[in-house]
Amino acid sequence: MPLAAPHDGLDDLAGLMSDNVLSVIPTDSHWQPGHEQADRARERLAQFAPDPDRLDSELTAEWHETITAVDCGANLERITCPLCSAAIDTEWWGDLLEERSDEGLDDLATDVPRCGGHT
Ligand SMILES: [Zn+2]
Repeated sequence: MPLAAPHDGLDDLAGLMSDNVLSVIPTDSHWQPGHEQADRARERLAQFAPDPDRLDSELTAEWHETITAVDCGANLERITCPLCSAAIDTEWWGDLLEERSDEGLDDLATDVPRCGGHT
């Protein structure tokens, strides 16, 4: 359906709208809140943004039990080196994630391609 197509109501409009996702990522990759704390944060967020689309959308929390690469999908603009801020090729990043997909992401250390630093 083209985006400019007329619609009969909010149900049709809902099919055209994307989800809003707020990712909360701790600076310490091995820390995470308990489920109870995460649920309290979700309830608090619902107070700030009760239903921005007015479509009876539900605010849910997605939980990761292990360290997980959280992908922003099509919104990805660039990846930069945490040491020198140079742009890093997204293909390199994809290859790194694929290489570590079997062993998990508990060890996040790597040698970055642009400056050769270890992070
Ligand atoms: Zn660098």
